[in-house]
Amino acid sequence: HPRVAIVGRPNVGKSTLVNRLLGEERVIAFDQPGTTRDSIEIELEKDGKLYTLIDTAGIRKRGKVWEAVEKFSVIKTLQAIERANVVILVVDADQDIGEQDAHIGGYILEAGRALVVAVNKVDAIDSDKRKDIATDLERKLHFLDFAEFHKISARHGTGIKKMLEGVDGAFAAAMAKLS
Ligand code: GDP
Repeated sequence: HPRVAIVGRPNVGKSTLVNRLLGEERVIAFDQPGTTRDSIEIELEKDGKLYTLIDTAGIRKRGKVWEAVEKFSVIKTLQAIERANVVILVVDADQDIGEQDAHIGGYILEAGRALVVAVNKVDAIDSDKRKDIATDLERKLHFLDFAEFHKISARHGTGIKKMLEGVDGAFAAAMAKLS
C-alpha cells in the first residue's frame, strides 16, 4: 500500500493536513518503537484503503488528541522521503514558491519517489485567482514533469479526496514501473 511522506516548508499546513487525514478515521497503529530519531508512522484506513503516513512534523499522541509539533528538520524530511514510496510536497498557494520547494521536489523525483504536489490554502485565494495561481505554480515547478498537482484546503477539507486519488494513482504508476 502507499507509504506517504508529507513534506514541505514550515507553515505550509503539513500538520493541518495530517490531522485532516487522520480526522475521525480509525488509526490502526502509530509508532515505530526502536527506530531512530523518534520517527513515527501512522497507519490509516481511508475509504477502505490502507495508507501509512510517515510523519515529519513530530506527531505525538496525547490521550485521544493528536498534536503536531512543528520542528523543521532537513534530516527528518530526507529520512521520511527515503521510507516513502509516495511523497506529498505541500506548498502554500498564498506564498511565492521558494527555492526550497523546488529543491525538495527535485530531490524527491531523483530519489525515484512518486510526487504529489498539494497546493494548500486555496481557501485564502479569491476564487477567480485560483486558476492563475495553480498555473503559475505549475510553471515555476515545471521541471517536476512527473508531479501531480492538487489544489487543496487542509483547513476546510476541500480537494483532499481527489488528492488521495492522486496518491493512489501515483502509487499504482510507481509500482507498475517497478514490475
Ligand atoms: P506546518 O508548519 O506545515 O505543519 O503548518 P501548520 O499545519 O501548522 O499550519 C500553519 C498555519 O497555516 C496555521 O495557522 C494553519 O491554521 C494555517 N493553515 C493550514 N492549512 C490551511 C488552509 O488550508 N487554509 C488556510 N487559510 N490556512 C491554513
